[in-house]
Amino acid sequence: MNTIHTDVAIIGAGSAGLSAYRAAKAAGASALLIEGGAHGTTCARVGCMPSKLLIAAADAAYHATHADAFGVHIDGAVRIDGREVMARVKRERDRFVSLVVAGVDAMPEADKLTGYARFIDDNLLQVGEHTKVQAKSVVIATGSSPVMPAMYRALGDRAIINDDVFAWNDLPKRIAVIGAGVIGLELGQALARLAVRVSVLGARGRVGPLSDPDVRGYAERVFGEAFRFEPQARVEAAVREGDEVRVRYVSGDGALVEETFDYVLVAAGRKPNVGGLALLDTSLVLDDDGLPVYDPLTLQAGAHPVFIAGDANGVLPLLHEAADEGRAAGTNAARYPHVAPFDRRAPIAIAFTDPGIAMVGARFVDLTTDSFVTGEVSFEDQGRSRVMLRNRGLMHVYVDRVSRRFVGAEWIGPDAEHIAHLLAWALQMKLTVDEMLRMPFYHPVVEEGLRTALRDAVGKLV
Ligand code: NAD
Repeated sequence: MNTIHTDVAIIGAGSAGLSAYRAAKAAGASALLIEGGAHGTTCARVGCMPSKLLIAAADAAYHATHADAFGVHIDGAVRIDGREVMARVKRERDRFVSLVVAGVDAMPEADKLTGYARFIDDNLLQVGEHTKVQAKSVVIATGSSPVMPAMYRALGDRAIINDDVFAWNDLPKRIAVIGAGVIGLELGQALARLAVRVSVLGARGRVGPLSDPDVRGYAERVFGEAFRFEPQARVEAAVREGDEVRVRYVSGDGALVEETFDYVLVAAGRKPNVGGLALLDTSLVLDDDGLPVYDPLTLQAGAHPVFIAGDANGVLPLLHEAADEGRAAGTNAARYPHVAPFDRRAPIAIAFTDPGIAMVGARFVDLTTDSFVTGEVSFEDQGRSRVMLRNRGLMHVYVDRVSRRFVGAEWIGPDAEHIAHLLAWALQMKLTVDEMLRMPFYHPVVEEGLRTALRDAVGKLV
């Protein structure tokens, strides 16, 4: 058995782990990056990047079939070649992965170790059956995996997760998507636009991350027009029949529905990958889910020399948060026991649907009733949105009654991903609604819709 001594051992070479490694080295520590699986990160291999590639193909198909209203007619059928769609998705995805892998290849060999790590104690790891790693501190950056409820596990290879979609060589004909969260909506809508017959079945009435009931209701109607959307389906049975799956569910309005699909895509949430770490062999305090109790600003587990960053800690499974957390955890691990809190950026979340969904700052459900006013705009009559025939959307902005500061927003609408950045920047700058309205708004742009919502809030503040 080989034993390696290092200042900082990082478990997992995903977005958080890579960032932790660089930060630990930059802080002058020795660091060892331990990875048991394929390099390339969840984001590049099976997450952010391939899903955006699939959505780009879906948007091309959508625009090709929705040009008539502009007087632009594509005579003859629009043909979607599933094999070509998937070939481009995978080719471009592989390019993104190769950039990450090249970065790992360029690291000194002595800083990398292959194998799955588990704790022997707080400072000692067993990696595979071949190596022990003695570390002054450890960063857990093991990422997350999709949850697969038992009912769907029994379907064998007909129950798939997002990873499997990006291994396809061709598009299927019919698919049930379980879960109306971000992954379910993004992939469900993209596949529907690529002429796959899609049913998205949520369980709890949720529509992506939205918590504002009016916005959620609006979004439900928008997606309901694009594919079969049942946010409150009660699935009674999912049974494999040959290479098909028969799903029986009670829809939100009480109707019993039976549908047959080629696959069931399970997008019912993700859980941190901590099961194989033998955390019970450490002195860390674990919560009811078996996750280390930690400080979200230092990423430190109690007063222990262990830090946990990225999807592995179970909150904010988003790339930019993983990178920030990895950096903070790596720096603190290198400086342990002298740890410092890091500045979290303004909360921002985007679902790359069309129209897009975005949330900035405080969620509607987390705001104290009567502490805020809601400024509203419908994008249905918003000038530029209407010009482009993209005039679907409803935005709510929340403004604090006393300080007049912008505190949050939830909406579905055109160009949401860009407007979300304006709002996140305004929030981080602690701007009041009056200061925001003194900023420039060009004409004619979708952002004028945001101005309408801000003005509406000002009117309600008087
Ligand atoms: P999610 O938590 O967003 O949504 C899962 C949904 O499935 C929830 O609405 C939940 O109520 C529902 N659900 C749970 N069990 C169910 C069941 N048995 N039947 C039907 N519905 C069920 O999770 P996700 O969509 O899997 O995405 C995981 C994470 O990945 C997200 O939290 C998100 O932060 C991240 N992600 C981000 C982006 C983005 O930034 N655009 C895109 C994709 C994923």
